[in-house]
Amino acid sequence: MSADHGGMATRVEAIEGLLAQKGLIDVGSVDRLIDHFTQDVGPLNGAKVIARAWVDAVYKKRLLEDGTKAVAEFGFGGPEGARLIAVENTSAVHNVVVCTLCSCYPWTVLGLPPGWYKSAGYRSRLVAQPRAVLREMGLEIPVEVLVRVWDSSAEARYFVLPMRPAGTEGMGEAELAELVTRDAMIGVAAIGEPA
Ligand code: FE
Repeated sequence: MSADHGGMATRVEAIEGLLAQKGLIDVGSVDRLIDHFTQDVGPLNGAKVIARAWVDAVYKKRLLEDGTKAVAEFGFGGPEGARLIAVENTSAVHNVVVCTLCSCYPWTVLGLPPGWYKSAGYRSRLVAQPRAVLREMGLEIPVEVLVRVWDSSAEARYFVLPMRPAGTEGMGEAELAELVTRDAMIGVAAIGEPA
């Protein structure tokens, strides 16, 4: 596959140009939308959601029941129109997210996807060999822990509620949010104890 995701970027640009030419879209507003997801959202929204779930058991319950609604409590929403589903890591289950078809991703909470998320290797191998792929990415999942792979789509986009690390008992929500990483919310990294 080519570096631009099977010619996707080129095709999107061509379509964008055509629509703009016909006066159907304003290219400026498309650029503003991209800026919004690159610069304003980032994975910070997700980190706030995770930290809230760690300190507030009632919020966590709402998040696991209806991710879209619980995330909207922070004012986070977007034009993507997909359901957001949070999946919880425990000492018995590790969750990891992929989009095997293309690159569906929970923009609302994580911003734009990293390059590797869109790579053919990650997409084709994660389902068949999750432990091996995770190990290559630096995350060893103990044999007694079940690995669940969630395939995102245009209808349902998953993100991971990581385990709260040990040694964070005294921390407040804002401090906890700083520990949460994008990769942990995709499920390819754990969150270590704070130094
Ligand atoms: Fe996709």
